[in-house]
Amino acid sequence: LISLRGLEKRFGAFQALHGIDLDVEAGSVVVLIGPSGSGKSTLIRCINGLVRPDAGSLSVAGRSVDLGDEGAWQRLRTEIGMVFQDYALFPHLTVLRNMTLAPMRRLGLSRAEAEAQARALLARVGLAHKAEDFPGALSGGQQQRVAIVRALAMRPKAILFDEPTSALDPETIVDVLDVMRGLARDGTTMVVVTHEMGFAREVADRVVFMAEGAIVEEGPPDALFGAPLHARTQAFLSLLR
Ligand code: ATP
Ligand code: MG
Repeated sequence: LISLRGLEKRFGAFQALHGIDLDVEAGSVVVLIGPSGSGKSTLIRCINGLVRPDAGSLSVAGRSVDLGDEGAWQRLRTEIGMVFQDYALFPHLTVLRNMTLAPMRRLGLSRAEAEAQARALLARVGLAHKAEDFPGALSGGQQQRVAIVRALAMRPKAILFDEPTSALDPETIVDVLDVMRGLARDGTTMVVVTHEMGFAREVADRVVFMAEGAIVEEGPPDALFGAPLHARTQAFLSLLR
């Protein structure tokens, strides 16, 4: 579904991504791990155009994105959902409005359609009763579940998650991971940056280890966690145990 070839990103003189090749199959879950500063956020941000790569190619659903074509990036932003560590909900809008805004503007849904869809999605994550509240009145875990269904409301081809549980208390992490597990079970294509190795082991089809702006190795969770090939991966994983 998503295919990256030779992706490069530079911030001034600093090269953040060195020729990344990555394929994400439809319906699969890819978990990205690696030390701080290794380029995980930069990489997933390139997949929906929040960060524009300098070189390389990116294709989504068989359509290649012309790096210089603003329209193509706009389309990508609608097609690929994103969930951030800090939820990024609009604080001045109710939960319901947070969820109906983009579907009305970008997908052309009527208010009635967008609200019906939003209420159904909120019910799916146990938050139907929070529709009229403002984000600030919700716990972190509840806000993150809203952020996830807000992404789903755009009917995306894939959803990218950047450390979705890193800002949460241990008790609420479980709720958010449960929602993500449910999405995976339903066949949602997902790319997840996370330090939740239990989740990675259980849910990932493939785990990708990055260091210093490059992919060091990747494989099924059993292989990558059980028998990492590279010293760099072994060193990183040994810190977690
Ligand atoms: P973390 O685990 O801490 O979130 P990460 O793997 O997500 O790290 P990135 O945020 O992708 O790492 O950053 C990779 C490198 O690129 C870092 O050295 C970072 O300082 C640099 N970088 C990222 N964004 C920018 C930017 N907008 N301007 C300049 N440098 C940046
Ligand atoms: Mg990051």
